Amino acid sequence: MVKPQLGQLEAEQLNTQINLNPDVVIVGAGIAGSALAYVLAEAGLNIVQLEKTLQHKDVVRGEWLAPWGVLEATQLGLTDIYETEGAHRLARHISYSEFLSRDEAEAMTFEMARDFPEVPLCLGHPRTCNLLNSIAVESGVTLCRGITRLQVAPGKPPTVDFEWENLSYSLMPRWVVGADGRNGVVARQIGCVTEHDQEHHLFSGMLVENAYDWPEDLQVIATEGDANVLAFPQGEGRVRIYLGWPKEDRTRLVGPEGPKHFLESWQLECVPHSAVITNATPASPCIAYPNFDAWVDTPVREGVVLIGDAAGRNDPIIGQGLSISHRDVRLVRDAMLGEKDWTTDIFNDYLSERQERMSRLRTVARLTSLKDSAFGETGRKMRHEIHERIAKNPELATPNAAAFIGPEVLPADVFSEAFTRQIVGQPIWSDLP
Ligand SMILES: Cc1cc2nc3c(=O)[nH]c(=O)nc-3n(C[C@H](O)[C@H](O)[C@H](O)COP(=O)(O)OP(=O)(O)OC[C@H]3O[C@@H](n4cnc5c(N)ncnc54)[C@H](O)[C@@H]3O)c2cc1C
Repeated sequence: MVKPQLGQLEAEQLNTQINLNPDVVIVGAGIAGSALAYVLAEAGLNIVQLEKTLQHKDVVRGEWLAPWGVLEATQLGLTDIYETEGAHRLARHISYSEFLSRDEAEAMTFEMARDFPEVPLCLGHPRTCNLLNSIAVESGVTLCRGITRLQVAPGKPPTVDFEWENLSYSLMPRWVVGADGRNGVVARQIGCVTEHDQEHHLFSGMLVENAYDWPEDLQVIATEGDANVLAFPQGEGRVRIYLGWPKEDRTRLVGPEGPKHFLESWQLECVPHSAVITNATPASPCIAYPNFDAWVDTPVREGVVLIGDAAGRNDPIIGQGLSISHRDVRLVRDAMLGEKDWTTDIFNDYLSERQERMSRLRTVARLTSLKDSAFGETGRKMRHEIHERIAKNPELATPNAAAFIGPEVLPADVFSEAFTRQIVGQPIWSDLP
């Protein structure tokens, strides 16, 4: 498209709207991009943020912030803001299973405040994005929504071309942050290569209302037959529920009956309050995704760094993406505020920490998939054997704690092949159900 010829007046008006040479352009106004926009603007940097959608919709993203993610949010000054907006604190976690009686499962309840340094928080995803957008704008961020034809080129300086409200723009910031999520384009445009694991199972989430009899302080994970279910209450009768099921059954949630089939999958003997969910009212779509980890080679190029899902994502089975995003934001913020001269080298600590963090979480997600979401006869047998090994030697459950306390807190050897082989009975990356 030919760039419009602007008259002098128009150009001046435009320049008051968008700084063509800001400190940072952030692509994506999800949680990662918006949290970073807010903290950098608060530190006095000039930020332009570009978002392709006109409003945040429920496309099934994370709404459970792990205890270690809450600690990260606190370091960014966000936890109080989330709580003022109504973020819901959870006090207990129970893992029910077809291999345990309810009493046996409840005897192993995690009391969040007792067992972890923080308690998890639940807050609707579109609501959190809107909240972050509004505090970022109040702090001086220029947020452009509905942009199209984005083109990012690395360099010194990098360039960001896009169209917005029928005009073309070409920005030359000091730095660009790609926070455009799992289906983003910035990684590809700057030449990053994405790799991923094999799809393991299918996964979907749905918000339900009128679930007033679900205990408001209790999160639950359970597997029975061909359903792995998760529930995270949000208060006032709302619960975010998730479902994992065999990848061979691709059409289970397809079509207008999808939400009904989702609720039916919750008819489980092993979960005491499951009828509260099956009788609840669907309050969102239930989009399904294949579950696996994906990552890019090195999420930095001259003038551009990637954060959040754009830099590589963990399998949602262990609900870590929001915590990962908050840590990315802290490390990238500290790198930028710690140096006047921005080069790719300032992100070295971020890159090495992220690589180890994501590698450990990938292992935990794989173990969790095998323990909770392996289906069919062979999968059930493997799940049963894993549960028995852990019951005999509770030390084998150690890697799971990473999803609550953070992957860096545990010793490296619990993520090793030698350790994980004891849990699964064979190498965890071999061809397993
Ligand atoms: C089913 C499911 C359940 C999950 N559950 C949890 C959970 O319970 N807890 C948890 O911690 N994590 C969970 N996650 C992961 C979590 O949602 C993500 O890791 C997190 O949302 C990543 O944030 P982000 O800002 O990087 O990406 P996103 O939230 O995807 O935001 C990216 C933004 O960039 C915008 N964008 C994309 N392309 C462009 C473009 N070309 N130009 C401009 N803007 C663009 C998008 O519109 C979007 O607003 C789950 C994920 C899934 C799929």
